[in-house]
Amino acid sequence: MELDRIDVVRYSRQLPLLGALGQLRLLETSVAVVGLGGLGSLVSLYLAALGVGKLVIVDYDVVGVENLNRQILYTTDDVGKPKALVAERRLRELNPLVEVEARNVKITRDNVAEALEGADIIVDGLDDWRTRLVLDEYAWETGKPYVHAAVDSYYGQVTVIQRGVTTCLACITPKPIPEPGCTAVVAPTVGITASIEVMEVLKLATKIGQPSYNKLIIIDTLKPSIDEVPLKPTTECAKCREKLLE
Ligand SMILES: [Zn+2]
Repeated sequence: MELDRIDVVRYSRQLPLLGALGQLRLLETSVAVVGLGGLGSLVSLYLAALGVGKLVIVDYDVVGVENLNRQILYTTDDVGKPKALVAERRLRELNPLVEVEARNVKITRDNVAEALEGADIIVDGLDDWRTRLVLDEYAWETGKPYVHAAVDSYYGQVTVIQRGVTTCLACITPKPIPEPGCTAVVAPTVGITASIEVMEVLKLATKIGQPSYNKLIIIDTLKPSIDEVPLKPTTECAKCREKLLE
């Protein structure tokens, strides 16, 4: 066991849970966080704190003052600066042991493979269903796990998409596809939803516990409650059919 590769003091409060093997698996995992808004802020901070090996962080936007009620990567001084570059600096300050690579681009069908090159796990920090579907297509083509989340008002949802194991994201996307817009949200709803996303990444990377396959986790932060809706692959979808033909 290559224990010398682990900072045992930094990770001492989680090593009893993850074990050296779990921590090493995390160290050997590269995670792409797409979208550095409310979800992506917390996901990337927690993944850096946990000690993931590499973070590929992707966003093309600049910090706005209206982002600061929930996007905890940024401070008032960062307004007007590119999110990916501010986030890169902040994440390195939090944990210099994590390799952080910022990509200041808008994900499209044409650049997704290049932008997410080298990532083992894809995390959805987006507020835009069309870009989510680009990630869904890429995850299916490459077989990479895709941790999806979305928030709206006091509600959040999370699921893990995996080719050959689960339904695809396209089949659970609301129809008609919602246009990107400014949904009203409060930080705790974003934080709880993002935390569940991070747990899914942790489970996938360390092989501890079971990823949330074929179930949509629904979080109601007003009650509060966390429910599961079972997801079933459909025969009409070529991507989902792959699971049914096993
Ligand atoms: Zn499908």
